[in-house]
Amino acid sequence: MSAPRKNHFSGSDMPADQADRPTREEAEAAVRVLLRWAGDDPRREGLRDTPGRVVRAYEEFFAGYAQNPHDILARTFSEVQGYDEMIVLKDIRFESYCEHHMVPIIGRAHVAYLPNKRVVGISKLARLVDAFAKRLQIQEKMTAQIADTLNEVLQPLGVGVILEAAHQCMSTRGVHKAGVAMVTSRMLGSFRDDPSTRREFLAIVGDQSAFSVSNT
Ligand SMILES: [Zn+2]
Repeated sequence: MSAPRKNHFSGSDMPADQADRPTREEAEAAVRVLLRWAGDDPRREGLRDTPGRVVRAYEEFFAGYAQNPHDILARTFSEVQGYDEMIVLKDIRFESYCEHHMVPIIGRAHVAYLPNKRVVGISKLARLVDAFAKRLQIQEKMTAQIADTLNEVLQPLGVGVILEAAHQCMSTRGVHKAGVAMVTSRMLGSFRDDPSTRREFLAIVGDQSAFSVSNT
């Protein structure tokens, strides 16, 4: 018996099957169930509009499912006057959602690549991070997705991605440890093979005095 094939993230951009998507009314009804599960009364005045608000908030929280990360990077520029140094966008704030508890993961991404003739508009790196952040995630997977997509589309000499994030599923429940950051990284190409490239990236990312420069 062959079950219908479910795509559990084979690839970097797998939106849920739109045919399976519930209606807005069904989604709001599900929120009312959770409100009752929490112990409250969805009919009381303060909660009456809550299901609608939650469902609209979900459209923002999970906007990444409607985006194709490859398309974001599709437009590249080759006239870069021979620029062949590392390009780094650091301290990209992101908000994501833990796929185990559906609570926020809030952090910063540092994304770098060593171009091979082609570069992409710098804001596209931030949009790429958001396209993967605005989904249910685990941090390790998100780190790999950002790096792999950049590598596939731009085919640069190397890619480095570091994510630092706080997980609310750790701070507000479970072990209740606040103030801890999880750090994940993925290094490809020269970032993996060449220690001096990796050192340069880590120095840029780690040096807070460089922040005002990179942020102008
Ligand atoms: Zn969690």
